[in-house]
Amino acid sequence: MSPRIPKRMKGCPVHGGLAVPEVAARHLDPDYRPLFGINHPGRVNNCLINRLCGNCGTPLSSRPGGKYALLLRPADFGRGYSSEPALHPSDCAPYAVSACPLLNGRLASYPTRRRDLEAERCGDPECDCRLWTNAPDHQERAGADASPFYAAIYRQEDYRLCVGEKRGRQGVLLGVAAAGVESLSVKLVTKGDPSSLDFARALLFGLPLSG
Ligand SMILES: [Zn+2]
Ligand SMILES: [Zn+2]
Repeated sequence: MSPRIPKRMKGCPVHGGLAVPEVAARHLDPDYRPLFGINHPGRVNNCLINRLCGNCGTPLSSRPGGKYALLLRPADFGRGYSSEPALHPSDCAPYAVSACPLLNGRLASYPTRRRDLEAERCGDPECDCRLWTNAPDHQERAGADASPFYAAIYRQEDYRLCVGEKRGRQGVLLGVAAAGVESLSVKLVTKGDPSSLDFARALLFGLPLSG
């Protein structure tokens, strides 16, 4: 059964019982299946820059005492940022954890396979999908499916973007900073199948490996 869609995500299109996250790539025609799990770079940057939730697309809290959540793998703690936008901690982050097969553990039992995005083009010349390619940055997560995930909660006053080098280009917007920012809590939400490197990172960053 599909998890209940939080009120905050009621503006999102729904496909197969699941709310389509704000950042997901999609076709112009809403009847086509959106690309759950494949982010649209323009949508991601819009959320990051405007402090919008990556799931519902509405603003994160900017009130004193307001919070945001990041869903992080041990590797993300290592590199010091989340390439995914922040989420509303009380509803959008838990929804992502229960709805996304990468996070709810269902994908871990499936063989890793790269998606052929070019084959998913709908043929509408106005649709964004004509630009979809099988470039490596669209496939970043392939092979990383079994990683544990953590929900880390931060104060909204601490929200900072991380800009740096990516594939030889400087000044690229990388995501929301997770290094040099004190989290209010870190909880293991997806046990996954940690690699020995993940174990080492968990030790290094003081992350729990059991819920
Ligand atoms: Zn299309
Ligand atoms: Zn949200």
